[in-house]
Amino acid sequence: MTKKLGILGGTFNPIHVGHLAAAEEVRERLDLARILFIPSFLPPHKDDEAIPPAAQRLAMVKIAIAGNPQFSLSDIEVQRGGKSYTVDTVTDLHRAYPGAEFFFITGLDSFLDIQTWKDWERLLGLCSFVVLSRQGHAFTDLVNLPFMKTSKQKLEVLDSGEQARIKAETAAGMSLWLEQVPLYDISSTDIRKRIRQGRSIKYLLPDAVETYILDNTLYA
Ligand code: ATP
Ligand code: MG
Repeated sequence: MTKKLGILGGTFNPIHVGHLAAAEEVRERLDLARILFIPSFLPPHKDDEAIPPAAQRLAMVKIAIAGNPQFSLSDIEVQRGGKSYTVDTVTDLHRAYPGAEFFFITGLDSFLDIQTWKDWERLLGLCSFVVLSRQGHAFTDLVNLPFMKTSKQKLEVLDSGEQARIKAETAAGMSLWLEQVPLYDISSTDIRKRIRQGRSIKYLLPDAVETYILDNTLYA
């Protein structure tokens, strides 16, 4: 049987419960054997921010996923260095896991920008996509993407919560799952801001990650 592997890429600056809960939900719904958490080395879309070294972001992911045997950490983008383009990562993963089927998991916020990703049309043919609901974004906005063939009415049932998932109709060859997952209105941006303001970040990320952040005086 083909091994189904999920990929969750991100800056993980820092990793939080939104990432973890969404990944677990998708793993279960799509019956994935494993989810690979892949911290980017240099995120192409976040040029102007000061981002902690990859080693620290990797360390936080490692701590956060330690209790889940079906989650693993991949340093493939960190090892490759340079700007971290998903198309390069998925190409490398096909080589590293011959015969595996890959599901790239991404929030709706990122996926709506897919046309700005490097070689995005080629990327859409290299793996299936799983797009997760994210606070402040609507699935109906996907109708503006050129490869999207699902009608606005069908997408509305996701935004309203009437339906939790649909397999989208798309231009030939591409597999796209749209998933209304329980919404955790948590972002790394908000966590960094809270730390700067001296506010609590408890329960937004695992306790051990909070301890790592405090011990290393990150984001202060
Ligand atoms: P930042 O605020 O710095 O952009 P973030 O919280 O969006 O951080 P990323 O590392 O950018 O985290 O996210 C990696 C992936 O996880 C993206 O595809 C993003 O859309 C998705 N994601 C992040 N937070 C959530 C959440 N709370 N629910 C669902 N998906 C999420
Ligand atoms: Mg983000």
